[in-house]
Amino acid sequence: MPSVRRCGLAALAGVVLCSCAMLALSAVPSAAADKKFAAFVERLWPEAEKLGVSRKTFDAAFEGLEPNLTLPELELPGAHPVTGTKPQAEFVRPAKEYIRESSIEKLARQGRQLAAQYQTELAEVEARYGVPGSVVLAVWARETAYGTVKLPYNAIEALATEAYLGKRKDYFREQLLWALKILEEGHVSRAAMRSSWAGAMGLTQFLPTHFRDYAQDHDGDGKRDIWTSVPDALASTAMSLKHAKIEGEDYGWQPGRTWGYEVRKPDGLDCTLEGVDNARPLREWVGLGFTRAYGRPFREDRLDDTAFLLMPEGIHGPAFLALRNYLSIKSYNFADLYVLYVGHLADRIDGGKGFETPWAISKPLPSAEVAEMQERLAALGYDVGKVDGKAGMKTRVALGTFETRAGADVDCYPSADDLELLRAQSG
Ligand code: CA
Repeated sequence: MPSVRRCGLAALAGVVLCSCAMLALSAVPSAAADKKFAAFVERLWPEAEKLGVSRKTFDAAFEGLEPNLTLPELELPGAHPVTGTKPQAEFVRPAKEYIRESSIEKLARQGRQLAAQYQTELAEVEARYGVPGSVVLAVWARETAYGTVKLPYNAIEALATEAYLGKRKDYFREQLLWALKILEEGHVSRAAMRSSWAGAMGLTQFLPTHFRDYAQDHDGDGKRDIWTSVPDALASTAMSLKHAKIEGEDYGWQPGRTWGYEVRKPDGLDCTLEGVDNARPLREWVGLGFTRAYGRPFREDRLDDTAFLLMPEGIHGPAFLALRNYLSIKSYNFADLYVLYVGHLADRIDGGKGFETPWAISKPLPSAEVAEMQERLAALGYDVGKVDGKAGMKTRVALGTFETRAGADVDCYPSADDLELLRAQSG
């Protein structure tokens, strides 16, 4: 669902392959284009009115506004060829860079200070929504580095541009309409309504429809101000985790539970046991030889919790047993490294240690080659999930199954050798 959020802030862009490269456009929109934009705005009015937006708010929202042609993911017909250097091969950012220890360490330290500063509010938030303060702080850290990353765009400008010229016009049109509703309700001024290029707004990066569903006025000033009120933003984040959904299914945060554990892999581990399809009670994983990192015990009264194995680097790098709350965080952003970042940072804010097993991969296979591998595996009948150039859970399991059947070294992680073998076998 919130795939857009992942392409949000360039400064924080992570594992995702956002084609967020800015087009270097120098062209000024022509008068004809202006007229077309004005007509586009006017066609929005009946829908805005239906949502209860007044004409006054509507006019003020679009006053002097022009499409911003420097935004990513626009369709600009018949003009502006992209010039410059040849696009470079894209890589998914390796985990050791995405979850960089120096940055986690710093954010954990700041997080502990903020936990003290907002002790009262965070206790209220946990009491009301069941989500620990360290988790909402970690989301805030991941999204905007505790509000220190300045949001580059005005939400109305960004959303109107994407709804008018973007590749996903209908999607952004809905977001734009709900953004107008936020202005109508007076939670924020147009000028203060800052966002990413994709309309993710405020301290914890809410899209307008998320704002509609989850934003809270925790400080009681009558405004749901996720831009400048830390208590409002943190309560809103907790509310969204409490009511987390993935494809319409409920993955609301379970109070008193954590998100998952780093574990030690047993010898001779079958790496195709990874993924949500292989979820089973924690006690079965223990039976398979998994133990917690640093030799810590699992709690006896938690051994019936359902967990699934997660190994972002296959048999290389750390392994995790992820619990249901892992999926609550995933509803916020679907990328597994995002979820691990937030979950791990929350643990660190609470005083936990770094990963026992270090990340191992420095140079992942280029995305185009991972995509080719996915296509070839899919053609051979394997379920790789989406062909997206990212070696996600399903792709890793499919690859591990292929490696096993082909009699190759089994590591459930894509390499050039795997691709060679696939090419040889699939012609
Ligand atoms: Ca408020």
